[in-house]
Amino acid sequence: MFEMKSDPRQILKSYLPESVVDEVYKSVLDHKVSLHFTRARNSKLGDFRPAHAGKPHRISLNHNLNPYEMLITWVHELAHLITFEKHGRQHQPHGIEWKQNFARLMVSFLHRGIFPDEIEEAIKYHVLISKAANGSDLHLKRLLKAYDKPLDEHKTTIETLTEGSYFKVHDGRIFQKGQLLRKRFKCLCMNDKRFYLFSQLAVVEPIGNENPILSLYLTKKSS
Ligand SMILES: [Zn+2]
Repeated sequence: MFEMKSDPRQILKSYLPESVVDEVYKSVLDHKVSLHFTRARNSKLGDFRPAHAGKPHRISLNHNLNPYEMLITWVHELAHLITFEKHGRQHQPHGIEWKQNFARLMVSFLHRGIFPDEIEEAIKYHVLISKAANGSDLHLKRLLKAYDKPLDEHKTTIETLTEGSYFKVHDGRIFQKGQLLRKRFKCLCMNDKRFYLFSQLAVVEPIGNENPILSLYLTKKSS
């Protein structure tokens, strides 16, 4: 976790599009935010915790986001902060008050050549039209993913695998890809025989169409 100390602008420059660094830094100062770049969390891209017990507002952002996704996530969390400053806890987390703040802040970064055209179009749709303007817009996420550092060659997103094939996750557990339920894939964990839901863009390591645990077991048994 990196807390901003000596030269905050230099740190911001390594995470964000260069032309927005001064503005973001100004918002950090204006709103007295303690900003942290954290380890990559699977469950979220960033989060906001309101000031309490003498501690300032805290925004954290996953360190591995590409500069465009980092900026969008910063704006998302800043919109939470601004909504909190005005309404306290009396609002829905991604309700109308938050949406208006998010859209207003996001629009201020458009038409300035900050984002590639296709991303800019998707952002416009995302903030102005889409009802799911809470960061769950898969179209925008897919476009943004193209700007991530290339994946390890052994890995891919789960949506590219065929149903029924097997894959491994970072902690070594093995799963079989199942059906898409609403927005997530229901996959069977071969280690504990339970079902788990995976985001369509979860990064996994494919290991073919044969259950590797079963074949391991058979090999052991027959030897
Ligand atoms: Zn949020």
